[in-house]
Amino acid sequence: MIYGLSDLRQGFDVECDAVVVGSGAGGAIAAANLARAGMKTVVLEAGPALTPEDMTRDAPRFLARYYWEGGLRMIAGTTQSPSLQARCLGGSTVVNSAIMLKLPGWVRDIWRRETHSGMFHHPDFDAAYERVFERLRVAPTPMTVMGPRNLTAKRAMEQAGIYGGPLPRAVVGCEGCADCLVGCAGGAKQSVDRTYIADAVQDGADVYTVSHVERVEVTGKRVTGVTGRVVDPVGRRPVGKFRVRANTVVMAAGTMHTPVILQMSGINPSDRVGATLFAHVGGGMVGVLDEVVDPWIGATQGWGAISEDILGLKYESLWASPSVLMVRWGDVGLRFLEKLPELKYATVIALVYRANVTGRVRAKRNGMPDMKLWIPDTEARPVLRGMKRAADGLLGIGARYVHTGIPVVADELKTLTDTEQLLSPRIGARHLQMTMNHVFGSCRMSEGDEGVVDDRGRVKGLENLYICDASIFPSPSAVNPQATIMAMCDLISRRLGDLPTAPHS
Ligand SMILES: Cc1cc2nc3c(=O)[nH]c(=O)nc-3n(C[C@H](O)[C@H](O)[C@H](O)COP(=O)(O)OP(=O)(O)OC[C@H]3O[C@@H](n4cnc5c(N)ncnc54)[C@H](O)[C@@H]3O)c2cc1C
Ligand code: SF4
Repeated sequence: MIYGLSDLRQGFDVECDAVVVGSGAGGAIAAANLARAGMKTVVLEAGPALTPEDMTRDAPRFLARYYWEGGLRMIAGTTQSPSLQARCLGGSTVVNSAIMLKLPGWVRDIWRRETHSGMFHHPDFDAAYERVFERLRVAPTPMTVMGPRNLTAKRAMEQAGIYGGPLPRAVVGCEGCADCLVGCAGGAKQSVDRTYIADAVQDGADVYTVSHVERVEVTGKRVTGVTGRVVDPVGRRPVGKFRVRANTVVMAAGTMHTPVILQMSGINPSDRVGATLFAHVGGGMVGVLDEVVDPWIGATQGWGAISEDILGLKYESLWASPSVLMVRWGDVGLRFLEKLPELKYATVIALVYRANVTGRVRAKRNGMPDMKLWIPDTEARPVLRGMKRAADGLLGIGARYVHTGIPVVADELKTLTDTEQLLSPRIGARHLQMTMNHVFGSCRMSEGDEGVVDDRGRVKGLENLYICDASIFPSPSAVNPQATIMAMCDLISRRLGDLPTAPHS
């Protein structure tokens, strides 16, 4: 059963075997497995369940309603970077581009060293990926829905000697409307509200939406449940209180909120909760061609390539609503209007890089996360080298100019000499223009003292508290993270529910 505001205004008090806090990539798969294992399972989600009618093309309105902090969440530190996380049933899987990539071998080796665990080289880990890929029907983006923008990005990359392929995505019947950032009104995206949460409900789980968890209750070495408030999604007013008593608590509120809830509950093994934070850094560019591209046609992110010469760098084609995209490129007001006619000639290439960064997440007094991330200038250089290469590719296929948004670089790069500016030592990490949507590692997994959870996902020092979300990554994944979050959380929750984990089970 899925409960909404009209059912919950008076608050509630329930008891169950397992409560899962958060319904995103990690929480949904945990809920499905625990319910399948016969445990009476409750899911608590701060945001509402969305219908196709909620998935409006009016991006600012959608972001304001269904993203945390209205889509204006920022990570401070070296620079101020936006960081998007959805606040709805299904979490960020509802708004993401559905790209599914497995953890590369070289990152698995690093994670083995960092976690002191053999988990990432065990056949059960690959079996978990296979189960997830099958359930979400992951397949390469068909050429029929690439549209001219993805194909232009492909041409530019290949011009620069960057060879990739159609991105594997969790979609069925994608029509290439490029609207992934505001959900998928047509229902093609296999977000976890439509898949694993539906499975959990089918197996008897109860899902309480608009239920914001504030505290985990602890008695000695055991947790006994969670408490919080029912929040009206319109106006965000708390309207009722709730308490869920449970034998097992699974935290899945994501990299920003899981550490906040633990800190507010006084749970902080070895002072490591929120003591770390990682994010993929990167950049992006708009190339404006002579030919009409009609960039709003085609899968949001259909084409991508892993750099062969810069370890940890990935190139992706991208689209977003003009009102979001042009804040970086067209600015606002008159500048926006001046650039608007260029839009139909534009294509966008984004870069994602596994930089060595440090960071932290702390609970603010209002229960929201305060995030800082520090990026060394040396880690900006590979991004800038990658940007020059992609910009040269765009110019090579006839772009009139390339815009990067980097303040100390010319607004319009028109020649290969212009793009040399991207290699200037005057540019530092503080100049990178990016949105950090791949965030992880605020409650790292490690069998050593530096870990908040062990390799079974259990919070150190407590018998029955687990974490199933991106916060447990020991460090950045180098590729889009959701497949790995799901594989890790599939294994953790299957072990918890005594379900088989071996290949072909
Ligand atoms: C625009 C965008 C595009 C992306 N594209 C891709 C992509 O194509 N491929 C990919 O691999 N990754 C992508 N990502 C990243 C990916 O979506 C996330 O890494 C992933 O969803 C994180 O999973 P999670 O379970 O940690 O958190 P989430 O999926 O964010 O889920 C956390 C859930 O917990 C809820 N919650 C938080 N606090 C509370 C509380 N106090 N009480 C109750 N509930 C709470 C949230 O509302 C949310 O529903 C993208 C992200 C964004 C924002
Ligand atoms: S491009 Fe459109 S149809 Fe395809 S998954 Fe994204 S929102 Fe859905």
